[in-house]
Amino acid sequence: MYCMTCGAEIPEGSEFCIKCGASQTDLPVPVETEEYPACEAAPEWTWPVTPTNVLVWAILGLAFACTFYLSFLGIIFSAIGMKKHRAYLESGAPYSTKVKVGGILSKVGLGVGIGLTALFLLYLTAIAVWLVFMGRLLPLDEIISEIF
Ligand SMILES: [Zn+2]
Repeated sequence: MYCMTCGAEIPEGSEFCIKCGASQTDLPVPVETEEYPACEAAPEWTWPVTPTNVLVWAILGLAFACTFYLSFLGIIFSAIGMKKHRAYLESGAPYSTKVKVGGILSKVGLGVGIGLTALFLLYLTAIAVWLVFMGRLLPLDEIISEIF
C-alpha cells in the first residue's frame, strides 16, 4: 500500500507512514454515494400544530372573552385558536380530545368575546352620551361633584 498523505510505499496494514508519519486510519474513508431507502421510507415528520397548542389558545380566548373590559382580546385569541384548530385538522394529524375541546372552546370564546365587546362598546357610548348630555346642563365642576 501507499501512504495516503505523501504517497510513499509502506507495509500493508500500516497505521502510520514510515516516511512522513501520517496516520493511515484517521483519514476519511471514501463514502459511497448510495441512496438510503430506509431514510426515505421514514421521513422525519413534525405536525405544524400540537393539540396542546390548539387548547391553550382556545382557553386564553375564552378567559379574556369573559373579562368584559378585555373581551376584544378574547376575540383575537379565540380566532387564533380556531385557526390553529383548522391547521391541525388540515395537517392530517391524529384527532384527539384536546383538539376537539380546543375547537369548541375557541368557537364559544369567539361568540362570548364578540357579544361582550359589543356590550362594552354600548357601555362606553352610554357613558359618553351621558357626559355630553350632563355637560350641557351643568358646568364641569358640578358633574365631577355629582360623580364623587
Ligand atoms: Zn507518508
